[in-house]
Amino acid sequence: MTRGVLLGFFRWILPVPAGCWDKKFDGMLQQLKEKDKFMTGEHRTLYGFAIMRLVETVKSLTSEEAAQKLNLPLERVNQLLDELEKRAGVITRHADGAIVSAGPVTLDKTSQRLVLSLGEEIQAEGMLHALGAAYVAGKLRGLPVFGHITTPCSYCHEPRHIIIGNDLKFRVLEAGASPLVFLPLPGRNTGKHDDLNQLGKDSVLFCSREHAAAYRKKAGRTRGVYLTLEQAVGTARSIHGVIPGMPDSG
Ligand SMILES: [Zn+2]
Repeated sequence: MTRGVLLGFFRWILPVPAGCWDKKFDGMLQQLKEKDKFMTGEHRTLYGFAIMRLVETVKSLTSEEAAQKLNLPLERVNQLLDELEKRAGVITRHADGAIVSAGPVTLDKTSQRLVLSLGEEIQAEGMLHALGAAYVAGKLRGLPVFGHITTPCSYCHEPRHIIIGNDLKFRVLEAGASPLVFLPLPGRNTGKHDDLNQLGKDSVLFCSREHAAAYRKKAGRTRGVYLTLEQAVGTARSIHGVIPGMPDSG
């Protein structure tokens, strides 16, 4: 899938051959498929409905409203939401029970501001999911969609702007910029699994390799990989081709 990627290791950023990362990524993708296998058509319908509802209204969604619109019993909707939240980690509800996140989008404040051509400004759950949002919305709506992502560099905090379509063609608005997307990988001894959905939520942007390196020297020793935007877009596509809710996902 990729050419060589950059690996963050202690204070250094080192190139590693594409094969190493591709193998690891394929393993994580397989884990994600296994984890989400429990989802039925009802889960997918509800999840997809929640994504589009958040995008279009930028307001939290109650389970009562979802039950009414989808013509499902409220009890069933609450059960489906429990599973989407706890097992798949793709839905988040606030204490009052209202849905505030349906990956890739969220009403919670994040560093990735997102405007899709179907709605108002919303937030994305991490840089990788921001890149996948127009693709997801386009699949759910069956329409061309484009997104405008605004996100700061994690080192210099200068905003970067990316336009991306549901066809995943993208453009960085800052001339000559070559940003990198950092995906932190859990340490080998933390006991945590490399959950791709979570890595997507934790992913951030650096405006350049120099700033990624400067940040790593200053603060960050987190294990992880740095992807070019092209690699990150391909990764987002793979993840969102798997996360159910999408009509043609396998
Ligand atoms: Zn920067």
